[in-house]
Amino acid sequence: MIDRMAPIYLDHAATTPTRPEVLEAMWPFFADVYANPSSVYSAAAGPREAVERAHSMVAQVLNCRPGEIVFTGDGTEADNLAVLGTARALSSRGNHVITTRIEHDAVLRPCRQLEAEGFRVTYLPVCGDGSIDLDDLARALTPDTVLVSIMLANNEIGTVQPLAEIGQLVRSRGILLHTDAVQGAGTLPLDVQGLGVDLLSLSAHKIYGPKGVGALYIRRGTPLLPLIHGGGQERDRRSGTENVPGMVGMAVALALAADERGAEAERLTLLRDRLIDGVLAAVPGAHLTGHRTRRLPGHASFFLDGSTGESALVNLDVAGVSCSSGSACQAGSTDPSHVLTALGLSPQQAKNGLRMTLGRENTEAEVEYVVSILPRMVRDLQDMPARS
Ligand code: PLP
Repeated sequence: MIDRMAPIYLDHAATTPTRPEVLEAMWPFFADVYANPSSVYSAAAGPREAVERAHSMVAQVLNCRPGEIVFTGDGTEADNLAVLGTARALSSRGNHVITTRIEHDAVLRPCRQLEAEGFRVTYLPVCGDGSIDLDDLARALTPDTVLVSIMLANNEIGTVQPLAEIGQLVRSRGILLHTDAVQGAGTLPLDVQGLGVDLLSLSAHKIYGPKGVGALYIRRGTPLLPLIHGGGQERDRRSGTENVPGMVGMAVALALAADERGAEAERLTLLRDRLIDGVLAAVPGAHLTGHRTRRLPGHASFFLDGSTGESALVNLDVAGVSCSSGSACQAGSTDPSHVLTALGLSPQQAKNGLRMTLGRENTEAEVEYVVSILPRMVRDLQDMPARS
């Protein structure tokens, strides 16, 4: 039996620590190499080259052209730009958009905005494991459909969608396909030609890069209206003086993730499976959420019987383990998770989510520790008299 350990961070879907290599690459652009990339004097050449190199590095990982990458303020902005920017640009061709019920709010709320602007949006249901049914998608496509937005992998339940098959269905009809790849970027292949997508969103802080920078891949020729107007940076698709350190950091983080992807995904899958199997075997009333195998390598998620979700989190925190009930972006909300209710869970069950997401620094000993302390913790909570 392992004694109490140093703090264990199991919330990599919420955010990740910035890697030292990334910080090191960013540092000069906060210090000596600070000129505005748009300036004409020679000191601006360094920052300008850094911006160009960052586009090239991201493009190399995505297997696209540097000019097809637009850096944004975060993953949320990339999603907003993809959904609002393309739908508005295509409004004279059609007013129908398709997405799923389990998207992140960074996609769902722009879709609500489109509805307010007169678009019709179909929110596809998902199966009990979080996968979409391709027949549902095929039936939802209409001559008025201009955009389909389906996430690569879900942040709350880890389920990975069959993007390549979705791409064949959607793009063969000349409809644009966007994917929110924010959660998949660290561990899944991101080749946009293989995935068959026209737009793909990324966020640096989920892949050991800095917070406050994201990127959107926009296939050449895709109609898109910008959301931010100003000095015309990023080929006029996202104005504003470039966040040079952020772009550099994101590019380095993505390149490192791509280099290490195969081995790290394999290691995380083993750890994840040990965590899932250990929790399901030892914790009374624990149920897996999301697909058992077609899920993110480092992602384990459950719901617990007996109103113990939030309390389990607090007790785990006291024991030095940081994890979450669902999406960190909805922290503070007492509403049941829209993702878990979309799986068919009751509102009460959907408040009892427990998400543990593994990352680079987690070890087997840490997983064993969590598996060893959780059963008693949950049993004690279930034995407590229910609050009225
Ligand atoms: N999309 C998904 C699937 C996410 O998990 C998140 C963040 O949790 C976002 C978008 C938003 O990214 P950012 O935090 O960079 O705005």
